[in-house]
Amino acid sequence: MEWISHGVTGVLVGNAILPPDERPRRAPVWWVAATLAPDWLGFMVHSLGEAHRGVMHSLYALPLLAGIFAFAARRFSGRPQVKLVRLWIAFAAVIATHSVLDLLTCYRYNPA
Ligand SMILES: [Zn+2]
Repeated sequence: MEWISHGVTGVLVGNAILPPDERPRRAPVWWVAATLAPDWLGFMVHSLGEAHRGVMHSLYALPLLAGIFAFAARRFSGRPQVKLVRLWIAFAAVIATHSVLDLLTCYRYNPA
């Protein structure tokens, strides 16, 4: 799937889940970074020998990535009052769109 498709879908899903007063500042940047994380982290790990669409695209990595993004967004986006679990849910949904869209490709993506 093209990165622009992942990015637009991530922004739409993230904005649909959280109301404006609970979104991290510069929310679209956070949503795009999160939804593209399986690919850009996968490429970084790929240089260490992992095949593309490996563990970073797995359902095991999703909760961990969502937690990292939720914690970072809460810490660095100036919204410490937002509950961490709500941010985690939003980021988990945004990251999950990546795997769903990859399932629609013709590259025979098989989630781990
Ligand atoms: Zn991917």
